[in-house]
Amino acid sequence: MIGLVATTRNGRRRAAHLAQIWEDATLYGGKPSEALRSAWADCDGIVIFLATGAAVRLAAPLLADKRRDPGIVCVDDAARYAVALAGGHAGGANELTARVGEALGAEPIITTASESLGLPALDSLGEDLGFKVEEGSDLAGVGAVLVSGDTVRLVSESRWPTGPLPDNVVTKIEGASEENGCEGATARIVISDGLADEPGPGCVVYRPPSLVVGVGCSRGASREEILGLVRSTLRGAGLSEKSVAALASADVKADEPGLLKAASSLDVPVRFRSAEELSAFEVPNPSSVVEGAVGTPSVAEASVLAAGAELLVEKEKSRAATVAVGRLPVRGKLRLVSLGPGSDALIPPMAREALARSEIVVGLEQYVERVRHLLRPGTSIFTLPLGDEIARCEKALEEAREGGSAALVSSGDVGIYAMASPALELAGADVDVEVIPGITAAQAAASLLGSPLGHDHCSISLSDLLTPWEIIEKRVGAAAMGDFVVSLYNPRSKGRDWQLGEVRSLLLEHRPPETPVGIVKNAYREDAEVTVTTLSALRPEDVDMLTVVVVGNSRTKLVAGRVVTPRGYLD
Ligand code: SAH
Repeated sequence: MIGLVATTRNGRRRAAHLAQIWEDATLYGGKPSEALRSAWADCDGIVIFLATGAAVRLAAPLLADKRRDPGIVCVDDAARYAVALAGGHAGGANELTARVGEALGAEPIITTASESLGLPALDSLGEDLGFKVEEGSDLAGVGAVLVSGDTVRLVSESRWPTGPLPDNVVTKIEGASEENGCEGATARIVISDGLADEPGPGCVVYRPPSLVVGVGCSRGASREEILGLVRSTLRGAGLSEKSVAALASADVKADEPGLLKAASSLDVPVRFRSAEELSAFEVPNPSSVVEGAVGTPSVAEASVLAAGAELLVEKEKSRAATVAVGRLPVRGKLRLVSLGPGSDALIPPMAREALARSEIVVGLEQYVERVRHLLRPGTSIFTLPLGDEIARCEKALEEAREGGSAALVSSGDVGIYAMASPALELAGADVDVEVIPGITAAQAAASLLGSPLGHDHCSISLSDLLTPWEIIEKRVGAAAMGDFVVSLYNPRSKGRDWQLGEVRSLLLEHRPPETPVGIVKNAYREDAEVTVTTLSALRPEDVDMLTVVVVGNSRTKLVAGRVVTPRGYLD
């Protein structure tokens, strides 16, 4: 919950606005010191409508522990600024400033060092991947070294898609636990599921979700017994319980109370597979007794292998349970990122976030240039010219397959005549893929023309490099017959100059010569040009590769100079 504390008239007015639009906000009235004290007890975040000095004085006696205190955001009387005063990371104040900023039109002020330098915050590094910070990690010490620019060593057995790290982080991908990653360096970040890697001064240890524990058990096995065996097996193998991503078992155990409770004590899900599926795996310690009872010679070991993990610890037994442990391969990330038509304002916030989280950005040079200012320190760039689409996909995929995080960018929408399709034709199940949608050229053009896409519409690319002309012609004919509004992509280039004329003739067979046509060149770019003409007056020579042509349907009309395709409300 968000608490709102205000005393001045302006402050109260703005607090009331927030209370009205935010479902999770509550106003705390009365004397400010008492209001703040009550809010402190109830809330995860507090917005104080006072000068920073007053807010600091009020909050000072209440501050106890930055991991538990609510985040505090302070808003000046004119609501020009929303300052994250305390609890920027753990308290969520940095994020709260953004919310306040959006609601009040105030500028968010964030002063934590990592944000101001565009660096990852150590307490949330890998959070999206499921990393857990090991207790005793020196977040403050390592954070200070990171920000100062001195060398921080990152030690890990495998590459993880943590996102870009600044170049003072030297990465060493090799056996973290062979030598304790934390010895002998001023600052280290260790990613390890091994208990031998302990945190200490100058060292932060992250536990990645790298382990899967296969569990077999008899009916009625208790939570305590299962949990005890899981824990002793992990400990015996020198593995951290915090790295357990999931338990795995046979689906006949799907309602086994002890197993379900053990999983919930570990705060992990249980993945169930059928006995038939499990029996397909060859395991080191099969059992004919288990085969007779469950229909597979192994549950624990086979469940580990079925999860795609490498078996680290063979079956261990207690009276009524068996346990085996495996390590999962790291899943890298491929982000297919839409950059919108041109203007910075139309780059989706999700795309900005995706770019900030990617270690390598792959794309056509002109598109990567458009977003270079959004890339964090340590991000590398890989560009290849037009025509090398597959090589670009392969490069991004290669990074993701190795456990990295790669962004493959396209203008407009990445899924529309762009890189998402070839990338996903090639991507296997071994990488995680996120597709970030954007505003495609047809939508961008439509908005500049008025509302030509107000009824059924379609897009057709006139590029016959990858699609035979006969097919394109057939589709144009079908669109004409169906009276669809048609957005023509790739309408004309130096080598392809006759197609648009053909298309115009085809469309003219089905719709009137005065049908409005919008020609939009470089939509939402500096040199944007918007022309409205008619189908009969359309001159292909006015059109080039940077243009999208929107042809209205038989009902599309001009209203006050704007292209409108009626939806039917006013008929
Ligand atoms: N993925 C892109 C389309 C790539 S195909 C998208 O969703 O927009 C390339 C064609 O898109 C160009 O030939 C042109 O027809 C059109 N196009 C892309 N951006 C444009 C813009 N800003 N203005 C006008 N047309 C554009």
